[in-house]
Amino acid sequence: MSGELSNESQAFRYALEAVRAVEPAVAAAIGQELADQRESLKLIASENYASPAVLLAMGNWFSDKYAEGTVGRRFYAGCRNVDTVEALASQHAKELFGAQHAYVQPHSGIDANLVAFWAILASRVESPALEKAQVRHVNDLTEADWFNLRRELGDQRMLGMSLDAGGHLTHGFRPNISGKMFEQRSYGTDPATGLIDYAALRETAREFRPLIIVAGYSAYPRLVNFATMREIADEVGATLMVDMAHFAGLVAGKVLTGDFDPIPHAQIVTTTTHKSLRGPRGGMVLCQSELADQVDRGCPMVLGGPLPHVMAAKAVALAEAKRPEFRDYAQRIVDNSKALAEGLLKRGATLVTGGTDNHLVLLDVSSYGLTGRQAESALLDSGIVTNRNAVPQDRNGAWYTSGIRLGTPALTTRGLGTAEMEQVADLIHTVLSQTTQAAGADGKVSLAQYRLADGVADTVSRRAADLLSGHPLYPTVDLG
Ligand code: PLP
Repeated sequence: MSGELSNESQAFRYALEAVRAVEPAVAAAIGQELADQRESLKLIASENYASPAVLLAMGNWFSDKYAEGTVGRRFYAGCRNVDTVEALASQHAKELFGAQHAYVQPHSGIDANLVAFWAILASRVESPALEKAQVRHVNDLTEADWFNLRRELGDQRMLGMSLDAGGHLTHGFRPNISGKMFEQRSYGTDPATGLIDYAALRETAREFRPLIIVAGYSAYPRLVNFATMREIADEVGATLMVDMAHFAGLVAGKVLTGDFDPIPHAQIVTTTTHKSLRGPRGGMVLCQSELADQVDRGCPMVLGGPLPHVMAAKAVALAEAKRPEFRDYAQRIVDNSKALAEGLLKRGATLVTGGTDNHLVLLDVSSYGLTGRQAESALLDSGIVTNRNAVPQDRNGAWYTSGIRLGTPALTTRGLGTAEMEQVADLIHTVLSQTTQAAGADGKVSLAQYRLADGVADTVSRRAADLLSGHPLYPTVDLG
């Protein structure tokens, strides 16, 4: 292979050649995915572009290793190199976030939340059956012990943010396992302002007396005051758990500090590593020392074998996030989000809460006469990738929705700045203002059908491509 090619190009070319030799269709799909990502204006708030170092740290023989247990205390032999990367990832996470303990094994954000629920239950709930289960061999437990364990742990309460206010499925949404594990109640936002109503939340907490209060969100465009949340939790004897999956990059980059930094306030914090934090797909739990032992039981109580190749990539990504330039990146994410919001407001768009303080903007597309589903499709036709999202009290439900969630972490990684966000706002407005509801095959107007005026998709796609051409994605990677 040519000596003129960058190291990254050579690495990915070799990798694809090896894959192509076995299953050419997979190699082709991987190559096409890079081409698609390069060409689209990605505004999905939960996505990003991990560095080549992070990506390459995942494609190796660590993937073959079983390592159930924790560092230095494994159920399998031969784990010394896994110990090295897991300890390193955990150390980087503690230093980066100022956390007392970090558990880097969860495979995803959902797994991290389950580990946290388990750790809180196991440490807070008086359960002789659980104590027995944790110190005795499982075969020593009788049927009555198992029955008692379910009864002792199965009667607890959780208070989380409602899905349509921006919470996540795992924060107690009824059909999700979290809504079945706990008796659940949710808090929402003030209909007049769209902001979390802390007074109402306090009232609900006083009356409901939950074991866990979950703060954090997938689609709330403002800051959350974690100091206030902790005060409420303390008042009612609840454990405060914060799910910072979306905004971990802003915490790492010190954009969210003081009352808005969850680490000093929550007893336990969960996150994904692949959104604004810009690492590999995965999860993580950070906690105060008193919960550490229970959190470290994530495997085998909740998880199977950890993914050593992903833990290696987490260590790389966390090392990247400790660099000073990551702070600059995190600040630019928020600057871009505010610029995007201002550009949309200037054009008459309706935004939930009237703006943003973080990495995302929630655009209410009902003012364009559209559902979220129609808006998402029309934007996709025009080279703009977003996702539809419910707005508070959404009358179109969670499938069609009335909103579009827009996030800036990915475009910021590509190097787009506030001036470009003004143009992105114009592209979005151009598409939505020229899209109308349309009738389906049965002649009835549906919540999914739409009509985009002639020529708009082509013009906007061309303008989006022009905008992106100045900010190439993975500029050091040439697949040939
Ligand atoms: N928590 C929040 C707040 C999220 O937004 C998400 C994903 O969108 C998750 C948890 C789940 O993460 P994962 O998809 O890695 O399981």
